[in-house]
Amino acid sequence: MPSFEPVLVYGTPGPVDVLALAAHPDDVELAVGGTLLNLDRAGHKTAIVDFTRGELGTRGTPEQRLTESAEAARLLRLTARENLGLPDGNLENTLDNRRRVIEAIRRYRPHLLLINAPACRHPDHPSAAALAADANFYAGLAQIQTVDPDGTPQAPHRAAHVLHYMQSVEFDPTLVVDVSDVWDERMRAFFAYRSQFHDPAAPPDEAEPQTFISNPDFADWVAARAHSYGYRIGARRGEPLLYRHGPFGTDDLFAVFAKAKRFA
Ligand SMILES: [Zn+2]
Repeated sequence: MPSFEPVLVYGTPGPVDVLALAAHPDDVELAVGGTLLNLDRAGHKTAIVDFTRGELGTRGTPEQRLTESAEAARLLRLTARENLGLPDGNLENTLDNRRRVIEAIRRYRPHLLLINAPACRHPDHPSAAALAADANFYAGLAQIQTVDPDGTPQAPHRAAHVLHYMQSVEFDPTLVVDVSDVWDERMRAFFAYRSQFHDPAAPPDEAEPQTFISNPDFADWVAARAHSYGYRIGARRGEPLLYRHGPFGTDDLFAVFAKAKRFA
């Protein structure tokens, strides 16, 4: 399996409020693009670190996916996006892979971490979730020493909260983020991956083989799911999340449930 050097795809690395980690460029846009746009609107800083370049993908080249992920990063108004260049299809929870993810978590120092789904038709997704969750734990241990690309020693840091985003296998979500107001922008970031998804506004690329996600019906499915989970909370569009590294605490129960539910 080839491995690549880590590359900065977009922006300037530095502390953010929320960091999304993903096995492949496009995982985040597929699942929680609206959530990231909402966070930006609320004044929170966000970043994405993709683990692989998706070089085993049926459609598009790794270079194409990097270019597409930079465009999506701009559309999602991220602070930065990086690609760690880990080997696609071999996302094992190894010492070396964990070290690279620990370095990323310590570089971005997020309060909240969004990670891959705990179960999925694509085996890399649950592998990436386990790698991310373990790396977040180890990133908090001072005895594990890492350095920034310029050689500066990194301080330990562990994100306080970890949430899984939903991929092909559904779970019973802990919460659903109302993304109705940013839905169109969210789908623009999604269609930045021209090599992966069929944009209904563009003619189909007959030369490339069809996949689970390139099928024209796929975008409908993504929208239908957002509609379905959104409806459950009385919103037009929603993105489901799973909190299972819990429980989480509050000293203001009312603030947690401040948002009204349309159909209680
Ligand atoms: Zn993926």
